[in-house]
Amino acid sequence: MRCENHIVNQILDAYKPMWSLNHAISLMGWDFETYMPTSGTEERGMADSQLHILHKNLLLNKDFVGLVESAKKLDGLSDLEKGIVRVLNREITKQIKIPNELTQAESLERIRGNMVWREARQKSDFMMYAPHLKKMIEIKKQIAEKIGYEKHPYDALLDSFEEDLTVDDLDKVFGELTPRIQKILKKLVDLGSPFCKESKLAKSNYDIQSVDKLNHDILTLLQYDRKRFRMDVSTHPFTETMGLNDVRITTRYEGTDFKKSISSTIHEAGHALYDLQRDQSLSVTPLEGGSSLALHESQSRFWENIVGRSLSFVQLIAPMIRKQVNFANQVSDHELYLYFNNVKADYIRVDADEVTYNLHIALRYEIEKKIFGDELSVSEIPEFWNDRMEQLLGVRPTNDSQGVLQDTHWSSGLFGYFPTYTLGNLVSAIIASKMRKDLEDYEKDIKRGDFQPIREWLRLKIHQHGSSYAPKVLLKNTLNEGYNPDYFVTYIETKYLES
Ligand code: MG
Repeated sequence: MRCENHIVNQILDAYKPMWSLNHAISLMGWDFETYMPTSGTEERGMADSQLHILHKNLLLNKDFVGLVESAKKLDGLSDLEKGIVRVLNREITKQIKIPNELTQAESLERIRGNMVWREARQKSDFMMYAPHLKKMIEIKKQIAEKIGYEKHPYDALLDSFEEDLTVDDLDKVFGELTPRIQKILKKLVDLGSPFCKESKLAKSNYDIQSVDKLNHDILTLLQYDRKRFRMDVSTHPFTETMGLNDVRITTRYEGTDFKKSISSTIHEAGHALYDLQRDQSLSVTPLEGGSSLALHESQSRFWENIVGRSLSFVQLIAPMIRKQVNFANQVSDHELYLYFNNVKADYIRVDADEVTYNLHIALRYEIEKKIFGDELSVSEIPEFWNDRMEQLLGVRPTNDSQGVLQDTHWSSGLFGYFPTYTLGNLVSAIIASKMRKDLEDYEKDIKRGDFQPIREWLRLKIHQHGSSYAPKVLLKNTLNEGYNPDYFVTYIETKYLES
C-alpha cells in the first residue's frame, strides 16, 4: 500500500520487518497447536519469546516512535492513514508504559501458572492453583496501574482486548441482557419446550473420517477457496491468520455429538472469512487485522449460530449430514434442527447453547470486575462462582473442574477477554437484523445455498476495512448501533419462543 503522506509511507516501510516477525510468530503458533512434536515445546518457547522481544525493540525504536509521533500531529490524513497512526500509537503507548520486568514476570507466570492449572483442573483442586492465580492477578493489577484508567482498574485491561471498552459499557450491557435471558430460559424450561429435550443424536458415536469429509463439504458449500485457506485438527479449535492470503482454521473431533464438530468448523470459518475478505491493499500493514475481538467474534457467531443453526441451513445440509452420518437417517429435518439448537443450563461454557452462553460470560465478568475492584479475594472465588452459577443458571457445580477451573484464560493472563464473547454475540444479532432489511432474499438464498449476497454484504460493511476504524466507530458508521443487547434478545425470543 502507498499513501499520500510521505511520513506514513516511511512508517509503512519500517513496519515491514515487524509484520514479518508477526507472520513467523503466527506460523509457529499454528504449528505448535497442530503438528509440532511435543518435545519441541521448550525450544519453541524460546524462539517465540525472542521474536517477541525483537518485535518490541523494533516497535519502540526511537526513529520509529518519532515517525508515529510526527504523523499524529499531521492534519488532513485520510481515514486509512489515521487508522495506521491510531493502531500503532495504541501499541506503542501500551508497550512503553509496561516495564520489561512486568512483561517478563507475566510471560513466566503464564507458562508456570498454565502448567499448574492443567494439573489442578484434572485433579479438580483449586487450592493447588490458587497461589498462581494470586500471582497473576497481582501482575495484572500492576499492569493496569501502569497503563492507567479513568474510573475502574479493570477498564485498563478491557481496553487491551476491545478498544475503548469500559466497565460502564458492560454494566449497561449485562444489566439489560442477563435478566431478560434468564426470563427466556425459565419460560423454555417451564413450557417443557422441545428445544430443551436432549436428542439421541448427541449420544451416538460417529466415524471421524466421515464427519471430516462432511466438514470439508460444508466449507465447499460456503465457497472457501482452498488456495488461500486450509483446515486441520486440534483439541481446541482456532483460526490463525498468517496473512490475507493464508488463513488457517482447525476443528475438533471428539467421536460423539457431531454437531459440535460442525459448529466449531463453521465458527472458525466465520473468523477466517473476516480476514479473507479484507481489502488486499491492507496486506502487510498495521490495518491488516480485524477491528476488535468482539467484531471478530461477531463474524464467527453470525455464521455458527445465526446462519448455521437456522432451520433453512440445517435443511440445506441435512442430506449431506445423512450421507456421512448414518444414524442421522433415523430423524427428520426438524429433529436435526432441534438437535443443533438444544438448550440446556449446564456448567461448561464452551459447550453452552446460544440461549445460556451469555450467562456464563456474565458470571465471569462479575468476578473479574470484583477482582480488580478489590472486592473479591482469590480464596473467595470458588464459592462465589458456585453461588452465582446457581442464581444465574440454576445449576451448582459439585467440583472445581466443573466450575472455576474450567477455562484456560486466567492462567494465561487473559483478564478482560471474556466480555468480548458476549459483545460478539450481540453484534452478530445486530448484523443479522440489518442484513435482513438490505437483502430481500436472505432466507431464500440460504435455502438454495447461495451465500454470495451475504458474504458480499459482510465484505462491504465490515470485512474490507480491517482495523481502519475502532470498533465503536465502525459499529456506529456501518450499523448505526453500539453494543445494544435488544437485537440479540429479540432474535432469541423469536427463534425459541415464537416458532
Ligand atoms: Mg471465536
